[in-house]
Amino acid sequence: MTARLNLVVLGKQGAGKGTQCKRLAEIYAIPHVSTGDMLRAAVKAGTPLGQEVAAIMDAGALVSDDLVNRLVDERFKEPDAQRGALLDGFPRTLPQAEALEALLGDDGIKLCINLDVPIDLVTERLSSRRVCQECGNIYKDTDVEAISGTCSNCGGDVIQRNDDQPEAIRARLELYERDTAPLLSFYEQRGLLVRVDGDQSPDEVTDAITRVVREKGLA
Ligand code: ADP
Ligand code: ZN
Repeated sequence: MTARLNLVVLGKQGAGKGTQCKRLAEIYAIPHVSTGDMLRAAVKAGTPLGQEVAAIMDAGALVSDDLVNRLVDERFKEPDAQRGALLDGFPRTLPQAEALEALLGDDGIKLCINLDVPIDLVTERLSSRRVCQECGNIYKDTDVEAISGTCSNCGGDVIQRNDDQPEAIRARLELYERDTAPLLSFYEQRGLLVRVDGDQSPDEVTDAITRVVREKGLA
């Protein structure tokens, strides 16, 4: 078995983390671990955890570090994560980054991609974003799936996330600057940070990231 490949993808909401992580997870055959997806699944299933976090998420606020740390802890115990994982939306605060380092060890994270996109562009992307409630596929408001409300991948309902409403978008981007941007220096200090321009087509972004992974001899 090759060494574990744990990659962190950082970037503002709407930078394209989810899209890229889905693709990279397939390319490297490691699971896509998205705390946002895990929390949304809990809300949808109406579990006690879901009931606890629903209002927080709708407002675009952050769920407590303890709670997401526990979620990720559990996720890394699953057999499929033993080869590594693509981390999307976690860590997003310094305490979470420290918890992850404690969980995986000093050498646990191999690379952190900063998927960089200007704030005007992410705001525009988030307001026009629609998602499939079943499979998580992302559409634009002008796509036929968004207009018809039906996912062409799985037939699920295509909706606008509550936290993609203007008020919540503003709140989330502010939290990014306050709580998540400091992680860039955290990973930079560890020599793990690489910036990738997120203002390119999805294919170009995937190419740029896989090139970095190759250059670093990680896969
Ligand atoms: P986005 O990054 O586009 O806001 P996500 O799907 O990553 O979307 O997360 C959606 C919501 O889930 C966040 O706004 C927050 O409420 C909660 N969440 C997800 N990951 C975390 C995390 N690591 N720490 C705290 N809250 C989180
Ligand atoms: Zn779908």
